[in-house]
Amino acid sequence: MIDMAIDIAVIGGSGFYSLLKNVEEHRVSTRYGRPSDAVMIGKLGKREVAFIARHGRKHTIPPQRVPYRANIEALYQFGVKRIISTGAVGSLRPDYKPGQLAIFDQFVNYTHGRADTFYDDEVVAHVSTAEPYCGELRKIASKAAKNEKLAFHDSGTVAVISGPRFSTRAESSIFSSQGSHMINMTQYPEAALARERQMCYLGIGLITDYDAGLEGRSDIKPVSTSEVIRIFGKNVEKATGLILDIIPQIPEKRTCGCSKALEGAVITHK
Ligand SMILES: [Zn+2]
Repeated sequence: MIDMAIDIAVIGGSGFYSLLKNVEEHRVSTRYGRPSDAVMIGKLGKREVAFIARHGRKHTIPPQRVPYRANIEALYQFGVKRIISTGAVGSLRPDYKPGQLAIFDQFVNYTHGRADTFYDDEVVAHVSTAEPYCGELRKIASKAAKNEKLAFHDSGTVAVISGPRFSTRAESSIFSSQGSHMINMTQYPEAALARERQMCYLGIGLITDYDAGLEGRSDIKPVSTSEVIRIFGKNVEKATGLILDIIPQIPEKRTCGCSKALEGAVITHK
């Protein structure tokens, strides 16, 4: 354990840490390897906040190679208890529009082959991910988004795929018919690993496109990388503003169940 208690962390695009004051870079290593980049720690108002650029500060790590376990473990070692994450999402529904933000309440994992648990050796544990996102942080985020009059959704299921390619039309229509509202490549296993470390996790999706298009809407073109980058750039500012509003509202003490995720979950005898 590193001798430093930082309560809140942000995982996301690389622009965020420029808002922190007195930033210190910590190049750390964990038993799961090195995180995506240095852990940046700085002040945001009265709070000390950690930040990791999920894809590296120069965006050199594709979603399927993000060291998810090392990222969560590194934050855990700093004492982080709450994670606010942002990421681009494609929309699978007409009412989830590019340019809007969404606060996830569920995910469906369609990825494969990712190292997605801290419990794969001598300790057996089965944590509940029935509610994978922190209810307390979701409430704060939704109130802050309302105050800022942002166009946002306070819930939504995100389908998580391995990538890096975008979906076929057939895949996209399966994901929406199976109940997902949005699609993304990084929410899994990030959210699940945070739960295994009993951290609160908030996922904010920046809707950039309509994935492979929408059924029966020939006017809506399938996603392209250049379109994602264009809309994402516009959305980052909104998401950053939202995070700046959320952080001061986070109470010192947690009242949600996230901190008790391992109670009764470990079945290995001591
Ligand atoms: Zn929580």
